[in-house]
Amino acid sequence: MDYKSTLNLPRTDFPMRADLVAREPGRLKKWEAIGLYRKIQAQRAGAEKFVLHDGPPFANGDVHIGTALNKILKDIIVKYKTLRGFSAPYIPGWDCHGLPIEFKVSQEMGKKFEAQWPQARQKFEDLWKDKSDPASVEAGIKYSEQQKSLSPEKIRSECEKSAKHFIEIQRVQFKRLGVLGDWDNPYLTFDKEYEAEELRLFADIVEQGFVYRGKKPVYWSIPCRTALAEAEVEYQDHVSPSIYVKFPVVGRPKTFVLIWTTTPWTLPANLAMAYNSTFSYVQVRVGDENYILFRGRLPAVAEKCGWSNYEEKPFSTGDLSKLEFQHPFCNRTGKLFAGDAFVTSDTGTGFVHIAPGHGLDDYNLGLKVGLPIYSPVTDHGTLTWTKDLPEEQQMPDSLIGKSLLEKHGKSEANEAVLHELRVRHALLHQEDYHHSYPHCWRSKTPIIFRAMDQWFIEIDHVAADVSRRKSNSEGRQRGLTSAATFRQAALAEIDRVTWIPDWGVNRIKAAVESRPDWCISRQRTWGVPIPAFYDAKGEPILDAQIVRNAADLIEQHGSNVWFEKSAAELWSLLKPKNWKSVEAVNKSNDTLDVWIDSGSSSRSVLMRRGELQHTVAQASRLHTETENAGETPALPWQSDMYLEGSDQHRGWFQSSLLLSLAGNGAAPFKTVLTHGFMVDADREKISKSKQHQGGYEKPQTAEAYVKKWGADIVRLWVSSQDFRNDIIVSEERIAKVAETYRVIRNALRYQLSNLYDFDPAKHTVADDKLTGLDRWVLGEFSKLEQEVIKAYDDYEFHVVYQKVSQFIAVELSAIYHDVIKDRLYTDPANSHRRRSTQTTLHRLVTGLCQMLAPILAFTADEAWEFVPGKNANSVHETVFKPTNFSTTGSEQANWKSLFELRNSVLPELERSRQAKTIGKALEAELVISVAPKTNAEIAEKFQDDFRELVNVSQVKFKHGGVLPVCTVNKSDGQKCERCWRWEMEVGSHKEHPTLCGRCVEAVKQFGKA
Ligand SMILES: [Zn+2]
Repeated sequence: MDYKSTLNLPRTDFPMRADLVAREPGRLKKWEAIGLYRKIQAQRAGAEKFVLHDGPPFANGDVHIGTALNKILKDIIVKYKTLRGFSAPYIPGWDCHGLPIEFKVSQEMGKKFEAQWPQARQKFEDLWKDKSDPASVEAGIKYSEQQKSLSPEKIRSECEKSAKHFIEIQRVQFKRLGVLGDWDNPYLTFDKEYEAEELRLFADIVEQGFVYRGKKPVYWSIPCRTALAEAEVEYQDHVSPSIYVKFPVVGRPKTFVLIWTTTPWTLPANLAMAYNSTFSYVQVRVGDENYILFRGRLPAVAEKCGWSNYEEKPFSTGDLSKLEFQHPFCNRTGKLFAGDAFVTSDTGTGFVHIAPGHGLDDYNLGLKVGLPIYSPVTDHGTLTWTKDLPEEQQMPDSLIGKSLLEKHGKSEANEAVLHELRVRHALLHQEDYHHSYPHCWRSKTPIIFRAMDQWFIEIDHVAADVSRRKSNSEGRQRGLTSAATFRQAALAEIDRVTWIPDWGVNRIKAAVESRPDWCISRQRTWGVPIPAFYDAKGEPILDAQIVRNAADLIEQHGSNVWFEKSAAELWSLLKPKNWKSVEAVNKSNDTLDVWIDSGSSSRSVLMRRGELQHTVAQASRLHTETENAGETPALPWQSDMYLEGSDQHRGWFQSSLLLSLAGNGAAPFKTVLTHGFMVDADREKISKSKQHQGGYEKPQTAEAYVKKWGADIVRLWVSSQDFRNDIIVSEERIAKVAETYRVIRNALRYQLSNLYDFDPAKHTVADDKLTGLDRWVLGEFSKLEQEVIKAYDDYEFHVVYQKVSQFIAVELSAIYHDVIKDRLYTDPANSHRRRSTQTTLHRLVTGLCQMLAPILAFTADEAWEFVPGKNANSVHETVFKPTNFSTTGSEQANWKSLFELRNSVLPELERSRQAKTIGKALEAELVISVAPKTNAEIAEKFQDDFRELVNVSQVKFKHGGVLPVCTVNKSDGQKCERCWRWEMEVGSHKEHPTLCGRCVEAVKQFGKA
């Protein structure tokens, strides 16, 4: 008889080779086909909500590996909360407007235009000479078409196409990562409904008096021709010309005030000078000239300017305010003012040249002492005359039109100003100066500070009357205390939010405490228009009712309507019925800062989408909980969590907080979780721009990683890292995680392969009837479940990874799976012992699939399909409830003893194998000496369990002996042909002379179960 065929050998169709790259797309199709996301939402209808609100990535380019990290972390949380029974809808979003898109589109359009234009222009000019020639008309039409190709409408339609194109690409790439969400109904910031709600929120803010128009220095990008927000500025090393300049003192021949600057181009805009009233100043005689400067800087300045011989005498600080200086190259004079807050002792000369149109300190001083906010620079970044000063006081003709934009480290404007200084002998010293200087994040060029008319949100605004706002919004808002400034209210609101990690609270507080007023207007085309008008005098009209009317119009037609219709048409459509103020003659061409777009998602998404509202019961429960603690209650629309990179304290977290607090009366989030960045082996941030500069061999896109490893390995790798710190990207690290993946997969496969004949409904063994070994492993697994749930709840996914992979490697692979082979394969198929172990394996594989599902979204679901008697088609539809399997204290103590004894016995067995005393462990007979109160005494009580744990054929216990603990002999008897154990009884059965008693029984029952 072929006894091998009577063994219960493992079998399963769950493949050993993962082949994720090829297999995962099939699973995605399946999820799509069954409408998994919709199904889950329907199943969880009415359950407690958990809303993680998606921060929208830019609809531009492929999904970067850093963006993949963010989306995977979000998905792990959403999947976990869903498994724990929450209703956790996930609505992905895209940020569709903005400079990156417009910049690229304009460049492409510009190239096309340039390629076509010279020909058309030549033809047009040639033929225009004869106006009667029909060809000249044709050329004229072409000309106007070319012009049209760069019109705002054309740019906007190209931008929209580009954004839609990349939304499609990114949607596919995000889905490929296994991220489950409402991909068919994402929120897009260029949707007309989104834009309309954004404008309604803006109208509420306008109505409360937050928004003002002011001339103020803003960050200005010359190539992008727009003002930049704080978050759009990045600091880079830069070399500037450092110059010491002489300003002649009026009425004191050959006497000069010395200033130091690194921006020569601001000198034409100089209107004053600042000193520090707490400093001591001196007048220094060098040759036949006298220089006034701060005594503390004299040694440094003398060294730079090469003064070997000089005399110094004190200059009364009190007299400084009486001086008047002559501008070195403009026909005007200026005065000196105290500027103690910003005139410092560590650099320069103790005097700061003041150009109120080009610096914040300068601007504030200018306002205080009544200087014009003079900024003689065009949008294109060239020097110009303005109406702020009389003609005779303006800069020399030679400077007009000179560009501030640097090429190869030099700008025309700086060079021209230096030339003016040199020819007038006003330049005392010049050298290169290395410092960190703000640059435009997009064009990577140095920004300038430039005063211009912009719209601002006032951060220190005193909040408007609360009761009015409440009535406006059907009580869904809570009010600010009317006494506080908005900044104070924002700081107080920050304290109501949970920040993880907890240093986040300091970071956002610092950002809010120090931030200037928010410049919200952009001179760009691809954005939501600011629905403002101008009257005949050029005075702006910004009115909440007009903004609301514009929102209604845009909800119908989209925001293109603002660009397509004339000012007169728009005014007649939007003017409130009872309008009694001035009439508009022009419309605003400004768009809103894109941070207003994404920052308005509290109104456009959280409040608008029904599935995101917390139930009344849940909100009131939270209300009671928090009211007792003296806290403000949560509102039904407030999201449970925002989760973005730690740079968003300056960006989206802040813009969302400020807009929601100003317009909705509360922060849009209860918890804010931040993650670090993907860094390379040199701990440098992996950025898109570094990619373009050829910094990496391979593209750092999500797709590149998924195509090599599969999404589940990328997900497992993300989970393996403590995301609160930066995450190091390296092939070695991922390869290591891939090794862990194989161990996990093999464990699942082993469990499934031993359940092929197990029907949980028929064969499940009750807890108290399970064998000791099974009870032990389930007890350990129950502890694991508690630890894993705690780690998930604390958002410590690396702990989940460590705990699960440790359990699989040690408790399962090294012990349990190994030990149970004998009983699974050789016991009668339907024996109690085998069914007990199958019951256990069934529980283990069910629990493992569920606890791994948030991370290994594909593999856990793949394995789930093979789980017998499963209660749902997809693991993602199930509810993960811990088994809470409890074992008694004495049971645990006994098993602890057995494992300790096993640990001391296994090396002995290994030594005997090495010495060839025995072949396989099953050839061995162990003789254990038993002394009172030792592990051996326990082992004697549980002989069968212990024998199975060490996998030998026989264990004998010897009393009264002393050392050694155990001896290893070759087993007596003969080897059973079927189970390979050595038994005395082999040979005593007539029908099956080569089998042991247990195997005889198994063979008799074979085929009967
Ligand atoms: Zn046997």
